[in-house]
Amino acid sequence: MCGIVGYLGPRQAIPLIVGGLEKLEYRGYDSAGVATNCDHSIEIFRAEGKLQNLKNLLKAKGIIQPGQEEGKSQKIQVGIGHTRWATHGRPSETNAHPHLAGRVCVVHNGIIENYVDLREKLQKQGCVFASETDTEIAAHLINSHLASSSSLLEAVRKSLNEIVGSYALVVLCADYPDTLVVARNQSPLIVGLAEDETFVASDIPAILEHTRRVVAMEDGDLAEISPGGIRIENKGQVVNREPFVVTWDPVTAEKGGFRHFMLKEIHEQPQVI
Ligand code: GLU
Repeated sequence: MCGIVGYLGPRQAIPLIVGGLEKLEYRGYDSAGVATNCDHSIEIFRAEGKLQNLKNLLKAKGIIQPGQEEGKSQKIQVGIGHTRWATHGRPSETNAHPHLAGRVCVVHNGIIENYVDLREKLQKQGCVFASETDTEIAAHLINSHLASSSSLLEAVRKSLNEIVGSYALVVLCADYPDTLVVARNQSPLIVGLAEDETFVASDIPAILEHTRRVVAMEDGDLAEISPGGIRIENKGQVVNREPFVVTWDPVTAEKGGFRHFMLKEIHEQPQVI
């Protein structure tokens, strides 16, 4: 399954993302990782195993500290995070998301079905792969389209035209410090809107502490996220998806509105299969 969280806004991204991942750990515990854009360069932290291992690493490096997420900064902060349930490539730190290729960093939930063909094509172009995952193909593909595109959105759009499979994809780029690009096809992805910040996640509980205004992405949606805003297109047309207000309490939200977890899991089976 995998759990995804993204943040764009004035607060410290990593503590917020780790807080969101804690709510999604049921979606995967093979590895966890986070990435941020630090002065036009991508910084990545990853650890094999449960989220606690990543938290230990971040604490040891002084990157997460108690109360840190409260302060607001003048500069826009951006980051992405992931808890992995491996489908392609064994559980390891090297295969942990986020995956970086050149200027582009991605987290992904799903399966890229034509990854063998794409990998061969990209290798012929000189791309060197660091992991065994299907996901890394998306990072290389987007990076390869970046130079000939007028925006990160356009590079992702071109890449998605080549990708066959399922994805919830969140894309961070060293050259775009105040943008995230997200896309969805057959894997869940929601966007939470607050006054001057935007959250992205696989599931509502990850963001409920911060906002109750949620946009549910639909299959084929590709969106550019800005602080507090979102612009969605689908099949090349701009679409307007009204945010809805989540009225569930956090416990009900974790159960996805179902009366108990078993019912939630039963209803998730088609997607899992
Ligand atoms: N296919 C990706 C991987 O193995 C994502 C896994 C998933 O979404 O479950 O890393």
